Amino acid sequence: MEDIIENTEGSSVSPEEEFKRGLKKAFDRMDREIKLILFTERGKDDVFVQATREIIGIFRTLTDKITFREYSLDHKMAKKYKIKTAPVLLIHPEVYNIRWMGAPMGEEVRTLLEALLLVGSGNSWLGDQARNVIRKIDSPRNVKVFVSVTCPYCPQQAVNAVKAVVEKPDLISLEIIDVQSRQDLAVEYGAQGVPQTFANDLLIGQGAQSEEVFADSLRKLEPQTIFIPEITADLVEVDIVIVGGGPAGLTSGIYAVRSGLKAAIVERGALGGQVATTPVVENYPGFTQVGGKTLVDIMVSHALQYVPIFQGEEVVTINPGEPMEVLTSRRKFRTKTVLLATGASHRSLGVPGEKRLSGRGVSYCSTCDGPLFKGKSVMMIGGGDSAVTEALHLYHMGVKVTLVHRQEKLRAQEFLTRNLLESGIPVLWNSEVRDILGETRVEGLSLYNNKTRKTSKIPADGVFISIGYAPAVELALKIGVKLTPDGYIQRDERHRTSIAGIYSAGDVEGGYKQIVTAAGQGAEAALAIFEDLINPYWLKQKN
Ligand code: NAP
Repeated sequence: MEDIIENTEGSSVSPEEEFKRGLKKAFDRMDREIKLILFTERGKDDVFVQATREIIGIFRTLTDKITFREYSLDHKMAKKYKIKTAPVLLIHPEVYNIRWMGAPMGEEVRTLLEALLLVGSGNSWLGDQARNVIRKIDSPRNVKVFVSVTCPYCPQQAVNAVKAVVEKPDLISLEIIDVQSRQDLAVEYGAQGVPQTFANDLLIGQGAQSEEVFADSLRKLEPQTIFIPEITADLVEVDIVIVGGGPAGLTSGIYAVRSGLKAAIVERGALGGQVATTPVVENYPGFTQVGGKTLVDIMVSHALQYVPIFQGEEVVTINPGEPMEVLTSRRKFRTKTVLLATGASHRSLGVPGEKRLSGRGVSYCSTCDGPLFKGKSVMMIGGGDSAVTEALHLYHMGVKVTLVHRQEKLRAQEFLTRNLLESGIPVLWNSEVRDILGETRVEGLSLYNNKTRKTSKIPADGVFISIGYAPAVELALKIGVKLTPDGYIQRDERHRTSIAGIYSAGDVEGGYKQIVTAAGQGAEAALAIFEDLINPYWLKQKN
């Protein structure tokens, strides 16, 4: 027996009738008529075609604002819209380029309904943050969202894409692709899980994203995991400006704000520093094993609960004074203190071929570029924790990796060394890279054996360089902060540098260079700054 419920007016209607009434009201509110065109193959009335007709038929019983036409692939309309396969449903093609390849069945009925309501209102209904990001897109984006009728997460992602099209119809086009109906495209794009989203044939999202993260991924043409709201103020007044968004900077932000200070983090590049490109982290307490990027995302989300992050802007200079002025590429900060948590950047070998073939087989990031070398032979240069961790990562990815080390013993931790040797990864000992060979891409290496004093040529498809990091001290040098003889920032036990009010934390100070020690130094520095602001040591120095 059909369920009967009492509606607000007191009469009894079935849930289905109640749903249809709600839908009718929603359609009535649409500002414009919507044209739907379905392209089919003559003589092929499959389940997708029938389902599309049926669902559109139901909607049309509720509103006269939807017009529906059906053409076969040999009709001139197919030529006009460049339709070569069927079934394809076009949604209001005079204004929007939205193609549905498959059929709005199962979970996808929700997507079609939301798409119709969005297109019918001509409003994307995006939130302010996502709308601002979409509006900044200034070149064409062809979005492909792979969906399946049984996937409950798919409508969210497909609707994100519809909203983007409605917001910017001149530049954004969309194909919603049902993986059952278009197995050929799913195979071509390697879409083995849904939803999966591509823009201009680049993967921008796996799984359903929030609309802000989707918008950001679409703009940057790469998958984003966290959305950092843009801050437009020209002048920001704080107690502490933290330069660097790695573990030290992020932790100091949390500690500073929790101490009652007003803080801001400025990061010119990617958040997380070296951790973001570390394949796996196995020694951060609380996580037996965690991907570097995942750990960074957790830290960034945590920090964002306390402290604004100004990402993508570089600190250009710091003018001393009370308050100090920190000038970035976008704005000015007025602050009482500055914490330099600028970390370290990867070292290069400095051999011929390295610069020329960078991005053409020479890489400093196995997490980023490893998948491109699956089944191919690569050399990993270095003998420390990073080189061994990354060699193991490549090995597990199916890359034929050989470690090349200039000593006859590794510097890496015992645990990692054992893993490396047990996995059978070959090691070329006492081998120094003299040259990276190849014209337009890496073809091999010239290696000098410092024991036999012989030079040999080894073929390779790629060279990964992981020979340590150099402290990022350009800014410190620019403002006159003293360095240690090793080139790190010189500081006292309270993380005070040689300039009053300027502090340091993390890898830029040298030391153990672990994620946990960087985070610890960030916390220490923030607490020291808090205490110094209550009782400024620089005032005592003046008296
Ligand atoms: P590292 O410990 O400084 O080791 C650098 C390696 O590269 C050394 O084996 C070094 O050889 C070699 N090297 C340096 N310059 C070279 C050159 N020009 N040609 C060839 N080889 C060269 O650097 P890292 O491995 O990047 O580690 C940096 C810091 O992060 C360390 O403190 C490390 O403990 C930490 N880290 C920890 C983990 C972990 O705990 N799982 C993971 C990654 C990094 P020599 O031995 O001859 O000097």
